[in-house]
Amino acid sequence: MEKTITALREREIPFAEGVSAERLTTFGSGGRVRCVISPRSVKELRFALKVLSDRRVPSRVIGGGSNVLLPDQGYNGALLSLACFDLLQARGCEVSVGSGVKMPLFAARMAQTGLCGAEFLCGIPGVMGGGVITNAGAFGGMLSDLLTEVTFLSAEGEVVRLPASCLTFGYHSAVLPRGATVLSMKMRLAQGDSVSIKARMREMMNKRLSSQPHERSAGSVFRKTGNTSAAIYIEQTGLKGKRIGGALLSAKHCNFIVNEGSATTQEYYALAELVRERVAALCGVRLDYEVERICSPTKS
Ligand SMILES: Cc1cc2nc3c(=O)[nH]c(=O)nc-3n(C[C@H](O)[C@H](O)[C@H](O)COP(=O)(O)OP(=O)(O)OC[C@H]3O[C@@H](n4cnc5c(N)ncnc54)[C@H](O)[C@@H]3O)c2cc1C
Repeated sequence: MEKTITALREREIPFAEGVSAERLTTFGSGGRVRCVISPRSVKELRFALKVLSDRRVPSRVIGGGSNVLLPDQGYNGALLSLACFDLLQARGCEVSVGSGVKMPLFAARMAQTGLCGAEFLCGIPGVMGGGVITNAGAFGGMLSDLLTEVTFLSAEGEVVRLPASCLTFGYHSAVLPRGATVLSMKMRLAQGDSVSIKARMREMMNKRLSSQPHERSAGSVFRKTGNTSAAIYIEQTGLKGKRIGGALLSAKHCNFIVNEGSATTQEYYALAELVRERVAALCGVRLDYEVERICSPTKS
């Protein structure tokens, strides 16, 4: 890792060492991350990825950290943040947006411009790049409905533009070539009226605020099973309000585990596994995780 740090320093690529995972994920658990790199351009990103790969330093891209949990023992590798990839440009109904733009900010900017279709993104606390990978969706809308093109950096370091129709999207999932880092995307929205777009967004936010907990969380713990929301099964376990350490199964929405302040990732999973076992025993259903667990690399 030291040689990687030296190479980044020589190229003046921004990075921070020993970053607390608490600042990197919405749930706020986990130990320190050895290095967080924040490239400002494709050139810097390509260089950073090459150095990391040459030195066999484990690395991952992190967006808003709203669908991932980091290990309690820390992450002995590098996380890449594309927060600086924040281009946002509208030409008529065609919109280009960088991976680092926050989804709620994007929705607000579209509303301001009088473009409709992106309202559902207003309460999803990630960034656009993470949104593509998880095919973020709510209130019947999905990011893939809007996408016309995705630009990514391939594992070989090539900038590739693919029509969205060439990619496979599913419920909260997307299949991109292995090792692809999403840089930006193009979308097609529709002309609308700012006032009614904003009214729809307010309505969506109110629904969210009244049905979801306000404490720190990583969103839904489990995915739907067929068309049935995981909460329907979890309700039957009677575990609502169950606490393990600082992790609490929300009484407001039982498919959310919230952080009461000092929860560890281990506590989160201990609680989630208890829920899973009870659901399996009572309903004969095996719940799949929505939240992604980032594991600690074994070497760096
Ligand atoms: C309170 C709350 C409410 C939520 N509500 C919803 C909801 O209504 N609908 C919904 O769909 N989700 C919801 N989520 C989950 C989460 O916000 C989404 O999954 C979101 O799209 C994740 O984006 P992110 O930027 O935080 O990604 P991260 O969690 O940072 O990363 C997710 C995955 O994408 C990868 N990744 C991130 N950026 C890139 C990139 N540029 N290139 C390649 N890989 C990348 C990461 O390595 C990781 O594998 C909610 C979460 C919270 C905390």
